[in-house]
This record gives sequence, structure tokens and C-alpha cells, in this order.
Amino acid sequence: MKDIKFDEKGLVPAVVQEGCSGKVLMVAYMNAESLKRTVESGDAWYYSRSRQELWHKGETSGHFQHVRSIAVDCDADTILLTVDQIGAACHTGHKSCFFRSMTEWEKTYTGNLSMLSDLREEISEKRVHPTEKSYTAYLLQTGIDKICKKIGEESSEVIIAAKNADPVVKDTSAEADNLRLEVCKESADLLYHLSVLWEDTGVTVNDVMKVLEERSHVKGNKKTVGHLDKTF
Ligand code: AMP
Ligand code: ZN
Ligand code: ZN
Ligand code: ZN
Repeated sequence: MKDIKFDEKGLVPAVVQEGCSGKVLMVAYMNAESLKRTVESGDAWYYSRSRQELWHKGETSGHFQHVRSIAVDCDADTILLTVDQIGAACHTGHKSCFFRSMTEWEKTYTGNLSMLSDLREEISEKRVHPTEKSYTAYLLQTGIDKICKKIGEESSEVIIAAKNADPVVKDTSAEADNLRLEVCKESADLLYHLSVLWEDTGVTVNDVMKVLEERSHVKGNKKTVGHLDKTF
């Protein structure tokens, strides 16, 4: 902690990320005392610059942040908190403070992997509040045999789509694009049904990602614990 570079006001910015989705939730400032409290309690504490006081996130809203990990960046002037967010991070009620886009062209689909955790939230919601028209609710009520049968079907459809798309891998024609789109659609069907299967068996997206992460060799996935690198 003594290696953290606090600015002239004794503050360091903290980027706050939701663990299960990877979403950036908010940015806030910490002083040494809030960092100490965060480390000791496992709950996120900040320093409110407007109120000029220590701020236990969630104290009035109930939207606490349970901290999973704390990382410091390469030159030790920014902190990254990875948290389990209770409710919304933003006081407006939005999950993330960054719900406003500054450009029109950014409003298109981002291809973010957190779609998998968003999808799971919808699926869980359909279990708790099933509606008559909901296919998800129907699958969950019908049970594991039906879900597994669908997984088998969708797997076969992925295989068929892949075999059709494989020969045109370098082809940029519209027809080849369509064959690749079929791979995407069938993969999405499979991922959706897998998500339903996870819901049925009580496995979280996070549990699955944890297994992948433990197998990962990508630098930065497993953080170096201990002394900060003095090379900066
Ligand atoms: P909370 O810590 O969630 O109980 O909120 C306490 C107060 O902190 C709110 O009334 C807001 O003024 C402020 N606040 C909460 N969350 C944020 C946020 N993500 N960004 C900026 N201010 C916030
Ligand atoms: Zn930095
Ligand atoms: Zn906000
Ligand atoms: Zn399908």
C-alpha cells in the first residue's frame, strides 16, 4: 500500500469493475484510509470529493460492493476494484455509471462478452417469474431431459453449419458471409440452451469462466501478488 502513488490531494482513482460481467461500473477516488478500510472489510470505501468525507458505497442505497480483488496498474497511480455489485452501481439506478454514449456510431452492437451474464440474468428472471409465453420458463419447468435434448440438437446444428462454412473460410462473398452467420446463429442457440442448463443445475456463468480462467495462459489474467514492480 505504501507504494501507491496518491496525488497531491492524497487521492488515487479507482476503476470499479463488476466481476461476473467485466462491466466498468464507475470511477471513484480513494484516499489511504478508504483503501485501508476496503482491504480490511472487503467492502468498497471511497473518498467523496464533493462531500469531503469517507464514503462507504451502498450505505444509504443498500447497493454495496463486495470486493473480489484489488489490482494496481503498472505505474501504481490507478487502482482497479473487481466487485460483486449489489443492485446498481450508479445513483441514477443504472447498473453502470457509463450508460450515456457520446457518439451515435457507438450505439451499434459492441460484441461484449458480458452478454452471457446479461442472458443469464434474463433466464433466472424467467425462472422466478415465469410467463405463459416464455420458452425459457417452459424449458425450466419441463426439466433436464428436455434441456439436454435441445443441447444435442443445437450441437448438431452447429456441426452442420460449421461444415458448410469451413470450405469458404477465405471467401468474402455475401454467400460465404451468410454461411458464417449460420455458424453464429447456431452457436448462439447452443449458448442460450447451455445457459438454461446452467440455470437448471445451479451453475453460474462465473463458475464456468473461473474454470476457463484457471486454464488461461494469457498474461494479466493471473495477477502477480506481492511487491510492485519497481521498473516504472
Ligand atoms: P450509496 O453509497 O450508494 O449509498 O450512495 C450515497 C450517495 O453517494 C448517493 O446519494 C450519491 O450522491 C452518491 N453516489 C452513489 N453512487 C454513486 C456513483 N456511482 N457515482 C457518484 N456518486 C454516487
Ligand atoms: Zn497508471
Ligand atoms: Zn453514476
Ligand atoms: Zn439452432
